[in-house]
Amino acid sequence: MCNSYTPSKGLSLLQGKCPRCQSGKIFKSNATKITKFTDMFQNCPVCDLRFEIEPGFFWGAMYVSYAMTTGMMLVLGALTFFIGHDPDFWWYISIICGTVILSTPLLYRYARIMMLYFFSPIRFEEKYANKIS
Ligand SMILES: [Zn+2]
Repeated sequence: MCNSYTPSKGLSLLQGKCPRCQSGKIFKSNATKITKFTDMFQNCPVCDLRFEIEPGFFWGAMYVSYAMTTGMMLVLGALTFFIGHDPDFWWYISIICGTVILSTPLLYRYARIMMLYFFSPIRFEEKYANKIS
């Protein structure tokens, strides 16, 4: 009997794991290290997949990041309007800009991770995953 472990794609995406083996990390450190949040492994430490599958692949992450940031700004603007009962203009600027600046490491990383998961031909392959016996 084969006991294989198939990880959840959504959980692997949230944890920033490689899309092929869903075990190896994509980024070298966690997002809280403000000077190191952009440091990626060139290849997956587990399955050796090269993350930048073609030159300039991660340029596309700019558009993903743009969409996420715009969505976040719209939601924050609506929340500020309804919770704050349409406060002064500077409340909108402070809340939206402050949140976007503070979440930059997460937006940067998830834009790249989403590029790998949704806009590349890489799919989960069980032969590369760590097996749990
Ligand atoms: Zn991998």
